[in-house]
This record gives sequence, C-alpha cells and structure tokens, in this order.
Amino acid sequence: MIVVCGAGGFIGGHLVQALIQQGHESVRAVDVKPLDEWYQVSQQAENLVLDLQVKEHCERALYGASTVYNLAADMGGMGFIENNKALCMLSVLINTHLLMAAHKHQVDRFFFASSACVYPAYRQTTPEVVPLKEVDAYPAMPEDGYGWEKLFSERMCRHYTEDFGLITRVARYHNVYGPSGTYDGGREKAPAAICRKVIQAKLSGVHEIEIWGDGNQTRSFMYIDDCIKGTIDLTASDITDPINLGSNQLVTINQLVDIVENIAQVKLKRTYNLSAPKGVNGRNSDNAMIQALLGWQPSIRLEDGMERTYRWIYDQMTKNRVLVGSL
Ligand code: NAD
Repeated sequence: MIVVCGAGGFIGGHLVQALIQQGHESVRAVDVKPLDEWYQVSQQAENLVLDLQVKEHCERALYGASTVYNLAADMGGMGFIENNKALCMLSVLINTHLLMAAHKHQVDRFFFASSACVYPAYRQTTPEVVPLKEVDAYPAMPEDGYGWEKLFSERMCRHYTEDFGLITRVARYHNVYGPSGTYDGGREKAPAAICRKVIQAKLSGVHEIEIWGDGNQTRSFMYIDDCIKGTIDLTASDITDPINLGSNQLVTINQLVDIVENIAQVKLKRTYNLSAPKGVNGRNSDNAMIQALLGWQPSIRLEDGMERTYRWIYDQMTKNRVLVGSL
C-alpha cells in the first residue's frame, strides 16, 4: 500500500495519478479538505478525508502502508507564508505524527517534502545568486515560520532513521508549478498568480499588471512532471540526506511575466508593488548532487511548462461565466 498525504493538493494530486499510471494497484490518498475541493480525485485510489495534525488520524491513514509520501502542509506562496507563520509551523504536527505512525506500523519508506525555504536568508540577498548547495542549509537561518518547520521536520526524519531505523527520504523542492494547483485565493505562487493576472487583463481589456517587488528578484521554477519523477525516483533511491529537487534555469520575475505575455499575446503596463511580500532577492538550485546521485535533471523548459499552466488556468477562469464576471 502506497499512501499519499496531501493528495487533495497540487503535487499530491499529480503524484497519485502518476503512481496509478505506473500500475500501482494499492494507493491511498489522504487530505483534510472535503473530496469536492481536491484538485484531482482518482477513482482507483482509496480516498480518505482525515486531519493529519491528529495522531489517531495519522495511524488510520498509514494502516497497512509500505511507502508513505508526506506532501501535506498548511502552505502557500509568499503572500501566505509571510503572514501566517504560526499556521505554517503547525504543520510540524503533521510530519511528527506521521513519523510516529510510520514507526508504529513499520512502514518501509517515508518521503518528506521539504523546501528551498530552509536555506538561510543571508545566502539569498542579491538577484545574482550562487546556486544553493545542500550543505548551505547550515548554519541555519531559514525563512521564518515555514522554513523553520521544514528544517525541524527534516531533522525529525533524520533522527527517526538514526534512532529507529525508519528509511526516510527528503527532497528540498524549489518552486514547483503546473496545472491543477492553486491560482487564486491568496495561497497561489508566482507562476500561477502571474498567469491569472495576465488572463484577467486579457479578458477585461484593462492591459495592466501589478508585480510584487521590483520584478528583478530571481527564481527557478520546476514543472510538476519533473517534480513527480524526481520524487518517485528519490524515494526508491538510497540517498539518505536531504537533496535539492528543482530547476536551475534562473529567471527574473519580469522575465517570467515576459513569457506569460508571449503565451497570451498581450503586452501589459507594469506597476510594481514594493510593499507586497516578495521573499528573498534571489534563489537558485545547485543540482550537482542530484545529477550525480540520481541522474535526475529537469526536462521541461519553462516556456513549455508555463504554456500548459496558462492553458489550464485560462480554462478554469473561463469555463464558469460567474467566475469571469467576478474577476
Ligand atoms: P498544496 O497546498 O496544494 O497541498 C498541500 C495539501 O495538504 C492541501 O491539499 C492541504 O489540504 C493538505 N493539508 C493541509 N493540512 C492538512 C492536514 N492537517 N491533514 C491532511 N492534509 C492537510 O501544496 P503543494 O504545492 O502541493 O505542496 C506539497 C508539499 O510540497 C508541501 O509540503 C509543501 O510545503 C512542499 N513544497 C511545495 C513547493 C511548491 O512550489 N509547490 C515548494 C517547496 C515545498
């Protein structure tokens, strides 16, 4: 039995689909959200609505499990994590109770989704960043709230391995994007938010866009299919330490807007909101370790992945006229 926690979310939903497509017959999908709010629901999976902050629910979720993927977390883009630090840190209950349940049920393998937000702010002060290596996480000064929870939970995984022999695998995801994820409501991340804003401008005829920060901050973005392949391969591997899983194609937020404008065939007047949450000035993934140990590298160009993401968000926003009317 493979259990995907956070299966109603963006990455978890894609992971369930991929596992079923690979021929796994016994997949359990778990999320706290009501089933009709999951981005993807697979009829071939056993779908459970459980609150994984609760220890007993974790025990129920992992009963009979051999492999566990923990993608459940209370999270969002910078707008959410900068303003909801306590909520982000409460996700510590999810991973801790899942580890306890995994140990109790003698699970074979446990995957934890960590984040590039574990890396210290002092290494990310300029847009011309040196890509972050795994060792750079220490001395620790992660993103306040969300990043501290991820770093603590990484170490819980490590100590469950050292003290109890539970096999754990940890990926530090760098910005994942793609269809079937959050694009509005306050938890969306930059790629989806920019697609939504460009679509709104196109549909309304008001050809303007507000960008958070000065637009010169740099990031790398990994398409969901690359993320899912890396996650499955890493979990099956013998890599014991946390490892970067991300793209190393660095772009500015302005360049990301250029890409979406090209897809949408519009040119927008840009305004910059310098007081909006914008995160660190620059961040990129050093992929030397994952290439050497796993042979993994991103395969989907940002332009192609953004095209697929844009199309999906466009369909969501236009399939329901009430939604369009309220833009
Ligand atoms: P998401 O918000 O789409 O999915 C997370 C899911 O967890 C949601 O469906 C949510 O309902 C569920 N959840 C929250 N609290 C829960 C609880 N108490 N019990 C059960 N389920 C609960 O996020 P995502 O983008 O799919 O991210 C998945 C994981 O990857 C998270 O741990 C996230 O921190 C990590 N991550 C994501 C990115 C990214 O760019 N998307 C980057 C770095 C790390």
